[in-house]
Amino acid sequence: MNPKLTSICDICITRNLNPEDYANDAVATFAQSLLYTFVGAKKQDQSGFIVKNKKDRKKYEAFLQDYDGNEIARQQIKRSDLNLAVIKSEDGKLNYVPNQGVTFEQNLKEMDLEINFQLNEVDFIDRERIRAKYKYRCQYCGRRGRSVDHKDPVSLSHNNSLDNLTLACAECNRIKSDMPYKLFIQLNDQISEINKKLVKYEDALGTLREEFEHRRRYLAAQVHLKGVINDPELNAIRKQNKSLQDAIDSLQSDYDDLRQTRKTYFDTGWRLARIKENKDII
Ligand SMILES: [Zn+2]
Ligand SMILES: [Zn+2]
Repeated sequence: MNPKLTSICDICITRNLNPEDYANDAVATFAQSLLYTFVGAKKQDQSGFIVKNKKDRKKYEAFLQDYDGNEIARQQIKRSDLNLAVIKSEDGKLNYVPNQGVTFEQNLKEMDLEINFQLNEVDFIDRERIRAKYKYRCQYCGRRGRSVDHKDPVSLSHNNSLDNLTLACAECNRIKSDMPYKLFIQLNDQISEINKKLVKYEDALGTLREEFEHRRRYLAAQVHLKGVINDPELNAIRKQNKSLQDAIDSLQSDYDDLRQTRKTYFDTGWRLARIKENKDII
């Protein structure tokens, strides 16, 4: 399957709007040049904006950019929660539109999205140093990772010392979240063979994707040079690309299965540990 670009953003998709009902010429053109699939309607209809006021649309855009550029905010507020808050604001339920007249922190507060900017503060240099120290590899599973991670959850210990910091991938970070560090390590130590498999999947997928990307760019260049769409040679290349993409999809789906199984394993381990601790029930 080709990567998809949709005519509407993920906030609108959260509203259960259908991308196929909306046009978006800019995204459609962009998708075409990348050979991505465009999901959307053909004709541009300007009246369809949910936020009618153009100035307000700019304000939301700036607010979302603030969020995307702020690592601490992204760590503490899930994108899905942010989207729901934006929808509330857009629908007038908060009586507040985020704006550039106040700080990002204040905008968050008014949107009921409070975060603590002090709590997770490991300065940028330290983060980069820690990433380099661990060669950009998750110290729990071995896959690529960039999240500077608190061994003891910062929400419990407030411990920002270097000894308490390590490097994790987003997935391990999420699984670990508020789970006791010792339990996570215990469970993780028992599946080191599985973790090795995950690394192999990630590496293989990376190589195949690179190859696919290379071929896709070659095809795009050829289409451009030949100026035709239905050339036999180009069709042959497209066919090859298609079978490579199928191989990637099937590998990805095996990989996703394994990741899901691993996550369930951790979830179950933690649930059992909590049940064991709760002696009152029976
Ligand atoms: Zn939208
Ligand atoms: Zn990991």
